Amino acid sequence: MRILVTGGTGLVGKSLNEYLNSVFFQFVNNFKFVSSKDANLLVKSEVDNLFKNNKYDAIIHLAAQVGGLYKNMNNNLDMYNDNMCINKNIIEACHENNVKRGIFCLSSCVFPAHPSSFPMTEETLHCGKPHESNYGYAHAKRQLEVICKLYNTSYNRNYICVSPVNLYGSHDNFSIDDGHFVPSAIHRMYNSKLENKRWFSVYGTGNAFRQFLYAPDFARAIVTILFDNSIKDGVFNICETKQDGTIPEYRIIDVIKMISNSLDFSQENINYDIQKSDGVMKKTVSGKKFIDKYPDFEFTPLEEGIKTTVKWMVDNFDDIRK
Ligand code: NDP
Repeated sequence: MRILVTGGTGLVGKSLNEYLNSVFFQFVNNFKFVSSKDANLLVKSEVDNLFKNNKYDAIIHLAAQVGGLYKNMNNNLDMYNDNMCINKNIIEACHENNVKRGIFCLSSCVFPAHPSSFPMTEETLHCGKPHESNYGYAHAKRQLEVICKLYNTSYNRNYICVSPVNLYGSHDNFSIDDGHFVPSAIHRMYNSKLENKRWFSVYGTGNAFRQFLYAPDFARAIVTILFDNSIKDGVFNICETKQDGTIPEYRIIDVIKMISNSLDFSQENINYDIQKSDGVMKKTVSGKKFIDKYPDFEFTPLEEGIKTTVKWMVDNFDDIRK
């Protein structure tokens, strides 16, 4: 089986590559990891060239314009246009080149901002507006689910969507301005430590709840679904969920404590700027559909994942994306 992986240089792409190398090294060469250097997926002719001399049986489509709160808020229209364009180019090329199976990436942050109840299941993806802050990214991702479903019903394709919660791990984008909460907080606190700053400030009360997923766990989930021929379509939320339906969520304050423990930064020097917004207090999604199918799937504890991520960032500080 030949599998094309777009977004091969990103957080998830690198985690997937490392996972395959550690567990399925005999199959690594069946996977072709590509980045924007191989083809700008915004340009259809470049996408077509990717497929020209290669026959792929499946795709793992990770490439996207991705970012934290501020990148989304400041570039809402571009996030919509770019992601719509990349996804349309890719899925059309897959169909034209008879790629029968694929894993396509959504995100829990594209679910409704004000759902009628928690936790949100896969069925509620389109049941209410996404948050204004990532309106463009969210609608483009929701359309990816729509287009996969239409190709499945019209042409009998097996295009499956996975929707992870907040990802973090080695190889993340640690940009303070454009990165997600975990990598950006790690980088900012590390700078405070290097500069011997006395205080580290966090926006909001720290009481908002969030779910987190270690990128190598997500890579494992992707491979699990890709090679499970009993799955032909649909959306799978990927997040830690216990057999009894309990969903671990963490307060921002707890995550900050884990980061400060890993960086050896005194918790007494962390203050919470309660004049600033907490954002949505809760946006719980359920991973029950996934865990019911794979009851033995194990998730890395958040504290352990953060410790490994912090160490990786410190060890690779000169070369990280920032
Ligand atoms: P990264 O930002 O780490 O990586 C993005 C990848 O996409 C890079 O390989 C980049 O290539 C590639 N890419 C971006 N634009 C283009 C383009 N025009 N042409 C070709 N390649 C392009 O993303 P993640 O690994 O974090 O995200 C992977 C997937 O997971 C995405 O679909 C994202 O929406 C989803 N997701 C991510 C979450 C997170 O917290 N990070 C949470 C939920 C979902 P290059 O390096 O060459 O620029």
